[in-house]
Amino acid sequence: MKGSSDIFEVYAVRYGHGGRNRPGNFLGGDSHDVPMPLDYYIWVATNGSLTVVIDTGFTANLAKARNRQLLLPVSMAVRRLGINPDSVEHVILTHLHYDHAGDQAAFPRACFHLQDREMAYATGRCMCHEILRQPFELDNITNILSKVYAGRVMFHDGDTELFPGISVHRIGGHSKGLQVVRIQTQRGHLVIASDAVHFYEHIETNRPFVVVHNVEDMLEGYRRVRSLASSPDHVVPGHDPLVMRRYPKAGPGLEGIAAALHVQPDGRGY
Ligand SMILES: [Zn+2]
Ligand SMILES: [Zn+2]
Repeated sequence: MKGSSDIFEVYAVRYGHGGRNRPGNFLGGDSHDVPMPLDYYIWVATNGSLTVVIDTGFTANLAKARNRQLLLPVSMAVRRLGINPDSVEHVILTHLHYDHAGDQAAFPRACFHLQDREMAYATGRCMCHEILRQPFELDNITNILSKVYAGRVMFHDGDTELFPGISVHRIGGHSKGLQVVRIQTQRGHLVIASDAVHFYEHIETNRPFVVVHNVEDMLEGYRRVRSLASSPDHVVPGHDPLVMRRYPKAGPGLEGIAAALHVQPDGRGY
């Protein structure tokens, strides 16, 4: 299907890893104190002529500061897919948390797509509260602000079709201006849920993740994500290691690094 303007191939790129136990992943904790580690991803959609990257990941410095594992720098991971990050013209930031907006420099020519409300949230009165600003890094916020002044940010408010086959949808919940990305593929509409759905289990059981701005919006967001996706098998959670197991590797030598999401996954969805 490559070359068709509104049908995309989509890849999950796993660049980082972090240990955590189940109580740390659910609001209110969990009775089973066993490991439930997170993988860290960015996503790449391409139709042969247009490549859109979703999120930027974090840098080595941020990984060290936050006690996370950087498996490989995002720019290098993207190159492994055969894409030159210097040539990427569009990056969608699902939100401004450090693990999604932490390596903006990896895409030096890109225009960044962001929701109005995320920028207002990350620069406004809510950031007076330590618990709400904890997932943000000031450097990442000043970086995106400098891009606003350089004419390299496009703001969106709610639902917007960016290109034929790719649209963004504000969900909120986890972060006030969090957006998901809906992409048309050969097997239907995928939803890159990012942190609207951390693990399959969150949407499967309707339980909120522990980092949350608005619980109601997070729970309603699960419904919205379901309605945007062609089926449960078309929802791609933002931090679930199962993604790499359910989908085939993107190509030779990419086991554990990149998976092809436009291919039907093994097993069920959420
Ligand atoms: Zn987040
Ligand atoms: Zn995240």
